[in-house]
Amino acid sequence: MNVRVPCPLCEVAFNIPLPASGPGECPACGNLQDLAHPSADASLPECAACGNAEMYKKKDFPHGLGMLILVGGFVASTVFWFNYQITAAWAVLIGTLLFDTALYFIVGDVVSCYRCGAEHRGLVPGPLHPPHDQGVEERYRQERLRQQELVRGQNRAGQGGEGV
Ligand SMILES: [Zn+2]
Ligand SMILES: [Zn+2]
Repeated sequence: MNVRVPCPLCEVAFNIPLPASGPGECPACGNLQDLAHPSADASLPECAACGNAEMYKKKDFPHGLGMLILVGGFVASTVFWFNYQITAAWAVLIGTLLFDTALYFIVGDVVSCYRCGAEHRGLVPGPLHPPHDQGVEERYRQERLRQQELVRGQNRAGQGGEGV
C-alpha cells in the first residue's frame, strides 16, 4: 500500500510507501512530509497523511481517458463507414466499447481523502470508504475557504500590530 500526497510547498504529488519508517521526502523540493498515520494498514480508518476520517473511493482512472478512448473509436469507425467497410466499422465500435468496459473493471480503486486530497492505493476499500459524495466535498471546500480567510485575517492583524 502507498499514499500519494500533494506537497504543501511546491504542490507536486508524490508517493510514500506504507507503512513508512519516517516522513516522506518530496522529490521536487526536498520538503519532509510527516504522516498522521505512518503505520496505517489496509483497513485505513483514517487518512494516513492527515488523520481525517472522511474518505471516499473512486476508480483509479484518469479523468477523461475513458471518454477519449470512446471518441477515438467512434472517429476510427466513421473512417471505415466512409470507405464502405461496414464490418470493420462495427468491429472497431464494439471493440472500443468492450475495451472501455474491461478497463473499468481492471483498474483498481483509490481511497482519497476529502480534506487533504491524499490518495491511498493498494488496498481494498471497506465500509469506511463510501463512493464520492458531492455534499461532503462541498462542505470541505467551504471549510478550506474559511481557513484561508482566517489566515489572511491573521496576516492582516499581524502586519497592523507591528507598527504599534
Ligand atoms: Zn515539494
Ligand atoms: Zn487526508
